[in-house]
Amino acid sequence: MTGKNRRNRPYITDMRPQDILMPVAAGLCCKPGGFHIDPVRPVERAVITHGHSDHARPGHGAVLATQETLDMMRLRYGDNFAGTTQAIAYGEPIRLGDVTVKFHPAGHVLGSAQIAVSCKDTCIVASGDYKDAPDPTCAPFELVPCNVFITEATFGLPVFRHGHAADEIKKLLASVALFPERAHLVGAYSLGKAQRVIALIREAGYDAPIYLHGAMEKITRYYESRGVALGDLRPVKGMKKADLAGTITLAPPSATSDIWTRRFPDPVTAFASGWMRVRARARQGGVELPLVISDHADWDGLTATIDSTGAGEVWVTHGQEDALVHWCTAKGLAARPLDLVGYGEEDEGDTMPLGEDAEA
Ligand SMILES: [Zn+2]
Repeated sequence: MTGKNRRNRPYITDMRPQDILMPVAAGLCCKPGGFHIDPVRPVERAVITHGHSDHARPGHGAVLATQETLDMMRLRYGDNFAGTTQAIAYGEPIRLGDVTVKFHPAGHVLGSAQIAVSCKDTCIVASGDYKDAPDPTCAPFELVPCNVFITEATFGLPVFRHGHAADEIKKLLASVALFPERAHLVGAYSLGKAQRVIALIREAGYDAPIYLHGAMEKITRYYESRGVALGDLRPVKGMKKADLAGTITLAPPSATSDIWTRRFPDPVTAFASGWMRVRARARQGGVELPLVISDHADWDGLTATIDSTGAGEVWVTHGQEDALVHWCTAKGLAARPLDLVGYGEEDEGDTMPLGEDAEA
């Protein structure tokens, strides 16, 4: 059928990008490949960028993802999270229907991938969530030249500049040294952020035990099993209150404002998130020690990445789409928001949504 069409219209050598990937209710649909990327509803064939629950959901017929993403889904949802699974390595091409798919590191969390979908001479990269900043717990973001780049926009406003994560860790360790009688409680998302914060603490030379909230143990031990060294980690459960003075404990953000914190001596509450750039947010959340550490690219990272891909067309999704679309248009790039629904629930996406006081 396509052959006939092509004969009738010989001047068309490439497919239009929207014929390759298009947003539908279930997510990004690749009709010629017969799959959806990060579908938010159960589909026959899903291609998944990374393990955060807003991107990796259970109930699909077949799932194609990196081994780490498949393992994280298994840890979270149990063995029967999908009908069948297939692991794919970074850089390994796979033919699906009329398209070729390749996974490339996204630098977001362990196993996270950008998905390059190629059809004839057109390459579209769906980058999922990504960051270009260094992270000792996952493969670094790889720049993939493409015609169309699909970018997230979680921190797609010029006000968001994350700075160096190592400097934030220095602040944490200075506070630990300053208050030896208090416990430090660091709120961090369980998948990715917590392990990165621990690895950064180790890189800064802190080698005392680090304590974990029970909800973080499984995924953190999984990181270790994949060769990510995190030093001496111990469950906080069962520790005596007095023995937690001068220590660091990692916990899910929700636990740090909970009755659970009463087990700690006069805790200093820290929170590691890109949203901590917004002081009002930190104050509202009762965060004493905000740490601006994000697993998403900041404004400079987003714009530099878009520029470097060489893409002539940019599709912007989940987050602050408008400013980024405007930036692209001003650069002479074709750009549009994708209006995908259902993302930004697990990690920094909208746990701390941006309010009207964003510029404050
Ligand atoms: Zn994510």
